[in-house]
Amino acid sequence: VIEIRDLHKAYGGLEVLKGVDLSAPKGHVVSLIGSSGSGKSTLLRCANLLEDSQSGDVVFEGEPVRWRGHGGHRRPADAAQVRRIRTNLSMVFQQFNLWAHLTILQNVTEAPVVVLKEDRAEAEDRGRELLAKVGIGDKANMYPAQLSGGQQQRAAIARALAMRPRALLFDEPTSALDPELEQEVVRVIKALAEEGRTMVLVTHDMNMARDVSDHVVFLHKGKVEEEGPPDTLFGAPRTERLRGFLSAGQ
Ligand code: ATP
Ligand code: MG
Repeated sequence: VIEIRDLHKAYGGLEVLKGVDLSAPKGHVVSLIGSSGSGKSTLLRCANLLEDSQSGDVVFEGEPVRWRGHGGHRRPADAAQVRRIRTNLSMVFQQFNLWAHLTILQNVTEAPVVVLKEDRAEAEDRGRELLAKVGIGDKANMYPAQLSGGQQQRAAIARALAMRPRALLFDEPTSALDPELEQEVVRVIKALAEEGRTMVLVTHDMNMARDVSDHVVFLHKGKVEEEGPPDTLFGAPRTERLRGFLSAGQ
């Protein structure tokens, strides 16, 4: 669904991604792990074009992003293409980012109605189904502040699903949560993996990465240091850096 090749990204003089490849084929779950500052969030943001980059390819469903300009000044050339890619790669953030002044159901139906032009009544039916699916069907008419962190994050996942995306991008979806609330969100992510959803998952939770991933990518200082199936990566890490990272109990 999404493929990144030899991506270079710098903030001013700071090189954050130094030629990274990342591929999330349809139905696969790819986890991104690595120390703080290694570039995980930046890579995710480059994938859905929330960030510009200096060079390299971003390919969505076989369609390469077209750029104008070059070097430090390149930008996506085609606004319609950017919109298509953004609506098809729904992002879930660490801090839920729900709209505080809207109910949970409104949070889930707003974008399908406004962006996808879905009929409101149909979007609401589907929104209720999605809320039930993530286990908060009874919270539809509440406001975000009335929900626990785990419930808010599940609402954010339902909102992402409401866009009927081709893939979901998660940036540390469980790291703002207490351990007991974390598990409810992990269960939802596992269920989505079992459904065959395409996902890219940035996480500090190595147990979740091991359980849900088809492929794990270890990023170190803006480069892929090691990658492979979870059993190999966690069971028999080859590089000293990955061994160090894993034993540091990140
Ligand atoms: P964490 O695990 O802490 O979330 P990360 O792997 O997601 O870390 P990034 O957020 O991608 O790391 O940041 C990579 C590097 O880029 C860091 O050195 C960070 O300071 C820098 N950086 C990120 N965003 C910006 C920005 N908007 N402007 C300047 N530098 C930035
Ligand atoms: Mg990050």
